Amino acid sequence: MEAGIPEQDRIRKINFPIFTKKRMQIYKNIPLTNYNTFRLGYHADCLVRIRTVEEAVSFFKRGNICKKPILIIGSGSNILFTEEFRGTIIFPDMRGIRNEKSNKKEAIISAGAGVKWDSLVEWTVLKGLGGLENLSLIPGRTGAAAVQNIGAYGAEIKDTIIKVKAVSVQDGSVRIFDRDECNFAYRSSVFKTTLKGKFLVTRIWFRLSKDPEFKVGYGSVKEELDKLGQLSLVNIRQAVINIRRNKLPDPDITGNAGSFFKNPVVSAEKAVALRNIYPEMPCYEQTSTDVKLAAGWLIDQCGWKGKRIGDAGVHDKQALVLINYGKATGEEIFALSEMIRKSVSDKFGIELEREVEVIGRSFSC
Ligand SMILES: Cc1cc2nc3c(=O)[nH]c(=O)nc-3n(C[C@H](O)[C@H](O)[C@H](O)COP(=O)(O)OP(=O)(O)OC[C@H]3O[C@@H](n4cnc5c(N)ncnc54)[C@H](O)[C@@H]3O)c2cc1C
Repeated sequence: MEAGIPEQDRIRKINFPIFTKKRMQIYKNIPLTNYNTFRLGYHADCLVRIRTVEEAVSFFKRGNICKKPILIIGSGSNILFTEEFRGTIIFPDMRGIRNEKSNKKEAIISAGAGVKWDSLVEWTVLKGLGGLENLSLIPGRTGAAAVQNIGAYGAEIKDTIIKVKAVSVQDGSVRIFDRDECNFAYRSSVFKTTLKGKFLVTRIWFRLSKDPEFKVGYGSVKEELDKLGQLSLVNIRQAVINIRRNKLPDPDITGNAGSFFKNPVVSAEKAVALRNIYPEMPCYEQTSTDVKLAAGWLIDQCGWKGKRIGDAGVHDKQALVLINYGKATGEEIFALSEMIRKSVSDKFGIELEREVEVIGRSFSC
């Protein structure tokens, strides 16, 4: 599903005159079904589609023209709405992939925040540029991919990012963040922490390799690759796509937001104590003092895999994924996530943290 603006949803479209030649589009009382991959049918009071940096600058400089709070949404593949959104949604729709610079070894490219992430990965793979191939088929837009520091199969987007352009939501000023200023961490960045909601990411620059080191040691990538033949960027992308299609529900068919919880990191002592009770528990050493555990395994051990309460459920192939079978509300999915957190806390003494952002009563801008 693409979060475009379906014709039938153009309810009370208002053309808002800005300083650039084009007119910015503002939509009132818009259904959010196409703006979240759980496919929840809440509404937003207002939605603004921003297509260029100039539009973003004009819009944010004018301050109070739209109802607060403001929420930026890409494809809504990491968001759970639990009620109607009584504010303004900003939909960044900056397009375009550019070749910025290139030499024998590497290329620098940039992509607009509104470019569909997997289209960018496909583009780089077809050009023979390595670095993003393990991140194939992750839903969402390029802007959010940087905000989230997306990761999969041993790769994270942060390893290829050089800089990020963003516009201040508060005053419309334009700022370039170099990689270090982005404070990338596990599924996080400065745009999710200290500057959350304060900047609209508009364009991202990547350094990609023409002679890449392939990462195939994670999960079943190597096995899948063996079935496809030679080691190449195209085949790694295909292997990742095959594994993901087999393991994860397609949000176009079944509403979901991928991994609902983060993998918890515990102390080495806690991991050893749990391993004494559960010798088969997967553990991934992070540092000499920290160990990452598999949230999906913990949830599975509590008996949740494949369970369904009404139309809210847990995926039968991956316990980390919560599902909307059709008519679940955001509140029902949230309630299910709370039950799962309680079970894991009771059984293992571990508090699971949500990866998915809940937008509801507690939301503030
Ligand atoms: C089936 C499935 C599989 C998935 N697999 C993975 C995976 O393997 N690895 C992984 O890391 N994630 C995965 N995800 C989660 C999700 O796809 C990513 O987090 C993705 O980057 C979200 O993109 P989005 O455009 O949908 O962002 P949204 O959900 O719309 O937004 C996410 C956050 O970013 C903010 N944001 C969005 N755009 C901007 C912008 N331009 N400027 C500033 N802030 C912005 C939003 O306000 C929000 O806080 C999966 C999701 C699904 C449904």
